[in-house]
Amino acid sequence: MTKEEIIAFLEGVDDLWLFALAQARRTETFGTDIYLRGIVEFSSVCRCQCNYCGLRAPNAEIHRYQLTEDEILDAVDELASLNLPTVVLQGGEDPSYDVATIGRIVRTVKARHHMAVTLSLGERGREAFSHWRDCGADRYLLKMETMDRSIYTTLRPGCDFDARLAGVRTLQALGYEAGSGMITGLPGMTIESLADDILAVTALDLDMISAGPFVPHPQTPFGAEAGGDPQLALRTMALLRLLNPKVNIPATSALETVRAEGRKQGIDAGANVLMFSVTPAAVRKNYAIYPGKNQEPQTAFQTVENARELIRSMGLVPSMSLGGSKVARG
Ligand code: SAM
Ligand code: SF4
Repeated sequence: MTKEEIIAFLEGVDDLWLFALAQARRTETFGTDIYLRGIVEFSSVCRCQCNYCGLRAPNAEIHRYQLTEDEILDAVDELASLNLPTVVLQGGEDPSYDVATIGRIVRTVKARHHMAVTLSLGERGREAFSHWRDCGADRYLLKMETMDRSIYTTLRPGCDFDARLAGVRTLQALGYEAGSGMITGLPGMTIESLADDILAVTALDLDMISAGPFVPHPQTPFGAEAGGDPQLALRTMALLRLLNPKVNIPATSALETVRAEGRKQGIDAGANVLMFSVTPAAVRKNYAIYPGKNQEPQTAFQTVENARELIRSMGLVPSMSLGGSKVARG
């Protein structure tokens, strides 16, 4: 697909055709299966200053929490008791969870459960990535947020585009199923830069690609900026599906936050993964990366049941598999 064709679809030339084709591509690879992932957001502490994110270090107004090792493992145990085959351990870039601690948690989860473990802890360096892989971590999600070097520098002060990209490459070299992706509609992005992002992220040869809309957080430098258009995020997901028929693509929680039935529409646009928070209820709403995040009061059981019911209501199947990458390697 050419850049001009991508731009035309991003501008909405034919959403019906685009989404129908994206669904057909998903079905060719995954059949009726939709994969489920429970996310344990174990720390809202972060050393970074991303201009879009409520967890950024300078934000003194949010309540910070850090789950203990036992609390993290209890949350994973609960997920396993609900027959959820994948856990995502996510957090701010919080070095107080040292390399050994994260490694021990991964090892314990792998010993206790037949479960895939995804980590999403930011840039922690080759040594850490390598150790966690040795401990059994299966996947790692490290979003570039944009593939445009000059936009990147306006988003993540003090961070280096090349270092993050090298991080993605390192994860791939270590044998992780590597995930990355972008936020759509961030300040400075244009339809043209998004088309470039779609092509560049495709060229990374990833196992998972996430694209969700920007949701402004009032306690950040981007707090007064316009939010990302959910329809543009859906078109981006559908185009990613056409260009990457075998990758895992989640219907993001940001989509659900900005549009009723956003997750359902994400699946209709070619997504094959539902991710939802199973962070303990006492702290869940404090993982405040954007307003509206994690506000649902329900238990993990209800969350998982709701996700399964949504999938069934669409004539699809909540998969019990580990939901590994279908991208051919090697
Ligand atoms: N700290 C790790 C990192 O940044 O890679 C992982 C946690 S971070 C909260 C997970 C993702 O949240 C980021 O990759 C980013 O895409 C998303 N995010 C943060 N703030 C957002 C916002 N205001 N709107 C939409 N997505 C946002
Ligand atoms: Fe920290 Fe991740 Fe938020 Fe950036 S996006 S401030 S690294 S939690």
